[in-house]
Amino acid sequence: MDRQSLETFRLSLRRFSEAKIKPHAAVYDREMRFPEESLEAFKEMGLVSLAFAEEVGGQGGDTLSQVLALEELGRVCATSSLTLMVIWAGLVPIAKHGSPKLIDEVVRPAMSGDTVASICLTEPAGGSDLFGLKTRAERSGDGWVINGQKRYITNATRSDWYTVLARTGEKAVSLFAVHKDDPGLSFGRRETKMGIKGSPTADVIFENCRLPEHRLVGELHQGHAYITESLTWTRALIGAQALGIAQGALEEAVNYTSERTQFGETLSRLQMVRGHIADMAMATEAGRSLLYRASEAIDENDPAARTLASMAKLSCSETAMRVTTDALQLHGGAGYLSDFPIERMMRDAKITEIYEGVSDIQRLIIAKSVYQQVRSGA
Ligand SMILES: Cc1cc2nc3c(=O)[nH]c(=O)nc-3n(C[C@H](O)[C@H](O)[C@H](O)COP(=O)(O)OP(=O)(O)OC[C@H]3O[C@@H](n4cnc5c(N)ncnc54)[C@H](O)[C@@H]3O)c2cc1C
Repeated sequence: MDRQSLETFRLSLRRFSEAKIKPHAAVYDREMRFPEESLEAFKEMGLVSLAFAEEVGGQGGDTLSQVLALEELGRVCATSSLTLMVIWAGLVPIAKHGSPKLIDEVVRPAMSGDTVASICLTEPAGGSDLFGLKTRAERSGDGWVINGQKRYITNATRSDWYTVLARTGEKAVSLFAVHKDDPGLSFGRRETKMGIKGSPTADVIFENCRLPEHRLVGELHQGHAYITESLTWTRALIGAQALGIAQGALEEAVNYTSERTQFGETLSRLQMVRGHIADMAMATEAGRSLLYRASEAIDENDPAARTLASMAKLSCSETAMRVTTDALQLHGGAGYLSDFPIERMMRDAKITEIYEGVSDIQRLIIAKSVYQQVRSGA
């Protein structure tokens, strides 16, 4: 996307988010309820189909356009940004690797924007050690039977489709598409959380869950490759959510300090306040550059994409945490109250350092690539 179209798209997303998403953000958080109004609004804007190829009925939007969408949503409502991102994370691997029959069943109907999806990777025994998973899928007659438990699954109780990583061999894993009405599927209790409270999180439990043969996504035993590829992309998307939160918090701090008076002048006239604002803006812009660079690398199949996506996710999530904390501080006591959005933004920011790989896992990925590059003289 050239710079001009990028800014036009951002502007339309900004207007849309301000009008259709922002008014509900505090309500989703307070009432801890799924962002139904946002889902309805995504339909108006055609946002769900943005991330899918034209061959499956999507708009074929590149990673940068998806990043812009999640960034602008995250700027006003992290829960809404996450909801859209997880629908994509669940369905895009099926669109990319699924058989024509599975794409017809799952992906094409989802382009209308009515389908909710989950991606089920994490288990009670661990999230960082992703491929140490215990959930098993075994052949049974002309289908599959899944047994196991997935933990902390976003959209859990609200999804129509669950994309599930399961063990299919001693050292092999595969992806499966499970429908909410498949026998043997149930949920744990809905978790209560620090932030992104509108987004439901729960265990997804498979007890002799039976699936027809064609629900295997792509090739048998290719789950590792499919999910490794997908994580590069979803880490950039979480970076976008984090960046949006940071941008929103920075703007809240600028607006508040422009209005609030102390010592006979607005806070914005105090040099130390301006110093904080400068640092917050610089960190946000640095994260943005890295994120857009990673997005291009993903679309160009650049071998550096995985490292750049980890850098972008790490940079944007740590920036979101720091900027929201500083923005709250600049609000003084008011920042601590739920009358202002900044305390919600700070609570929402924390999760971006955790899901889709905790910060130290991103550091390990980055360091491994740096060592390889330097030691090989590349
Ligand atoms: C609200 C929420 C929503 C989520 N949504 C989803 C979802 O939709 N789908 C899904 O599959 N998962 C989801 N997750 C799970 C999330 O991806 C995991 O929680 C995350 O990957 C961390 O795994 P863990 O919680 O098992 O932590 P652990 O792996 O136990 O790690 C705990 C800590 O140990 C340290 N650590 C672990 N390994 C290393 C290492 N190798 N080197 C250095 N330090 C290390 C880190 O400090 C880390 O923070 C969600 C989680 C939450 C809280």
